[in-house]
Amino acid sequence: MYDIAIVGAGINGTSVAYEFIQAGKKVIVFDKDAIAAGGSGAAGAFISPKFSKAGELKELIHDAFVYSTDFYEKNFPNIYNKTRLIHIAKDEKDAEDLKYYKTHTSLKLYDQNSVNIDQEYVSIDSGIVDAKNMCEALCEGAKFKQENISSLVYEDSYWVLNDIYAAKEVVLATGAYKSLLNEPCIKLRGVWGHRIDIKTSTKNENSIHHFVSMSPNNGGVMAIGATHNVHYHPETSKEEYDLSYGRVELLEKATRTLDLTDVEIIKDYVGLRSGSFDYLPLLGRIVNSHETLECGEKNIRVKKPDFEKFIYYPNLYMINGNGGYGFVLAPYLAKKLADYILKGKKIEDMLSPARFFARWVKRG
Ligand SMILES: Cc1cc2nc3c(=O)[nH]c(=O)nc-3n(C[C@H](O)[C@H](O)[C@H](O)COP(=O)(O)OP(=O)(O)OC[C@H]3O[C@@H](n4cnc5c(N)ncnc54)[C@H](O)[C@@H]3O)c2cc1C
Repeated sequence: MYDIAIVGAGINGTSVAYEFIQAGKKVIVFDKDAIAAGGSGAAGAFISPKFSKAGELKELIHDAFVYSTDFYEKNFPNIYNKTRLIHIAKDEKDAEDLKYYKTHTSLKLYDQNSVNIDQEYVSIDSGIVDAKNMCEALCEGAKFKQENISSLVYEDSYWVLNDIYAAKEVVLATGAYKSLLNEPCIKLRGVWGHRIDIKTSTKNENSIHHFVSMSPNNGGVMAIGATHNVHYHPETSKEEYDLSYGRVELLEKATRTLDLTDVEIIKDYVGLRSGSFDYLPLLGRIVNSHETLECGEKNIRVKKPDFEKFIYYPNLYMINGNGGYGFVLAPYLAKKLADYILKGKKIEDMLSPARFFARWVKRG
């Protein structure tokens, strides 16, 4: 019997595994392919705040940025590369947002004139995660099984996965792939991304985010990414993804910022980001919509429904919908989830998957 089973070994699943391993729990992690085989393995894994004006998502990512940079630096200094990040405005709206951001943020900023750039920009201390090695390091100490989980059954006081593995708690961290659970109110969209590693003689010491993100030149190699393609999905698209389209787009965007010389593409990375319909992540218990509806709709069809009145699957949780900020959000969200499961600390309603249940019912 495991204390906890985690389905999906991307940055979300492995971050949750880390928290439970630290708490001395017996942890099993499943992935149908491998550790970091999904969106996480494709990520350039730049750690960045959201340089926008205001809003819940911006504040959440800010808090996660502060937490996660410290988390990676303290616990995994060899797989976290501290860099200076220069975020350059790509249009007038972006420039306005950056101006506002600079006068309202609590982050320490480099002097506006420290780099010779004509456009509005902001520069901070930041970092880049080695995505695959980080996911592997985070679940060290857990049992890892390469297996597609297709069945999840609750028996008395524990879950049984694929008729074999028993666990007291289960966390679904399956990204934008086909859902294990048939809950109609939980809908995630996958945004396909492509990034490349190139060899180049162009010197670059900083992470630059402009039309596309670029890493520092490390031993002649730079990471460039990523594209945002809402039309392609590896599980539903009829045709194979054509790498040449993404390569052209990435190099064209990168050369608008840097004069890239002696370029050779040495590796392509592709994967899905998983996003919710209000762009906020989904973290916590999952509503059993069938059983909740059987109890009537009067607690649901109110202006501000009390999520405590819904019926939830016992000891079943999800962590998903991090969009393009998976490596920023995951350590922060995983800590929140572990604090909830182990210590009963409440997770904010704005992150609860239950918010989509109430909306789904109200829409009829
Ligand atoms: C090209 C690209 C560039 C990106 N760049 C950045 C960046 O610079 N910074 C940043 O913070 N974020 C970035 N992101 C976003 C980030 O990668 C995602 O937010 C993050 O990977 C989401 O992690 P996840 O664990 O939720 O999903 P995933 O990494 O997709 O993991 C889900 C896993 O679940 C497994 N799985 C699904 N169903 C089952 C099942 N039934 N049984 C067993 N296993 C199952 C899949 O095989 C997969 O490995 C980027 C994403 C892409 C695609």
